[in-house]
Amino acid sequence: MSQQIPASDVPKAVLLPRKAQPLYGRHPWALHSAFDHIDTAAVDGDVVQLVGDHGRFVAYGVVNRKSRIHVRLYSWDVEQPLTDDFWKQKIATSIDARRQLGLFDENAGCRLIYSEADGLSGLIVDYFAGHIVLQVNALAMERRLDVIVAALNEQVSPKSITLRGEAGVIKAEGVTIEPRVLQGEVPTEPIFIQENGIEFELDLSTGQKTGFYLDQRENRVAAAKYFSGRRVLDMFCYTGGFALAAAKLGGASEVIGIDGSDKAIDLARRNAERNGLSNVRFESVDAFDHLKALVDAGEKFDAVILDPPKFTKTRRNINEALKAYYHINRQAVNLLNPGGILVTCSCSGNISRDDFQMTLLGVAQKSGRDIQLLEQRSASIDHPTLLTCPETQYLKCFICRVE
Ligand code: SAH
Repeated sequence: MSQQIPASDVPKAVLLPRKAQPLYGRHPWALHSAFDHIDTAAVDGDVVQLVGDHGRFVAYGVVNRKSRIHVRLYSWDVEQPLTDDFWKQKIATSIDARRQLGLFDENAGCRLIYSEADGLSGLIVDYFAGHIVLQVNALAMERRLDVIVAALNEQVSPKSITLRGEAGVIKAEGVTIEPRVLQGEVPTEPIFIQENGIEFELDLSTGQKTGFYLDQRENRVAAAKYFSGRRVLDMFCYTGGFALAAAKLGGASEVIGIDGSDKAIDLARRNAERNGLSNVRFESVDAFDHLKALVDAGEKFDAVILDPPKFTKTRRNINEALKAYYHINRQAVNLLNPGGILVTCSCSGNISRDDFQMTLLGVAQKSGRDIQLLEQRSASIDHPTLLTCPETQYLKCFICRVE
């Protein structure tokens, strides 16, 4: 329940009438259109108290007038202001949760903090065998880097901490984040993580995202169990996550991995060799061209994995993105032998699970092939969905059988 406004000197961010409801509902984003005014004493990056109808306290947050998300909310408890201890406690709670889930392992990779899902809007922290990669997507977190680094040191004593920024998001927040090493040294020799009994080499300084797609960890195992003795095509394979699991855990007879990044393919090849997998080969080529070439050549596979990059970052482009999903899934179905397995993913947060399923329905109808949904999966458990912030669920991974 909400409390009456506290007798406090925290500057106020005052909502327009009737705008407070979703924010009492613990959604962490207060958009600019919701505000009547924000106390000028608060400069961007400062803590404010969000105030609703009749001056009632809603939550504590951090203001950034340059962002569409004018105030990011972090505490709905009037007795719990946003002190250094608050941030440290939040970080400790997230990391404890990973420990409890059995995910924290010195040799493994794990997302320790997943932004809104862990109540820390704008902060992503990934752990890779002793090294930490931070992704800061909000001014609120950029201003608090010192506290964050101190808390991470207390919790996991990392060998190094590297800061990354996502270009588009940084633009949206009006803050420049220079990617840099914040602490320690990123070793020049390769870093390895163990995942599902497979060893992966990582490129922490120039790799994609924070270096490795931890969100697919459990989907790689789930998919692998359908691949025994089968010929598998892994499209958008990056460093071979699904492909190597298919060969090593799934016992696939042959695996082909395709990605457009030369660097990723180099790593994928090294990963196959390191894990002693000789029936996997990788090619660096444009996936869209290659899919078409395979269809034109009449190639057939027993399983196809599609894990493309985000097709849309905005709501405006949803229709084009859905068309692109339709297109590649239609081609994948075309490549499948009867009884084949389609593992199809979408990491576009703006595309809903229902829309993705409808797109696959379209593929089934137009291709005249029966598509059975076997599993409807999402991201690994270190990327949980926070019910009060449905945007935290972005990854769809459907495993289908195609007749
Ligand atoms: N399946 C991977 C993650 C894929 S991320 C894993 O399990 O780790 C999406 C990948 O798509 C990236 O590696 C990126 O290099 C690749 N990509 C993006 N556009 C591409 C294109 N046009 N052709 C081929 N690959 C592309």
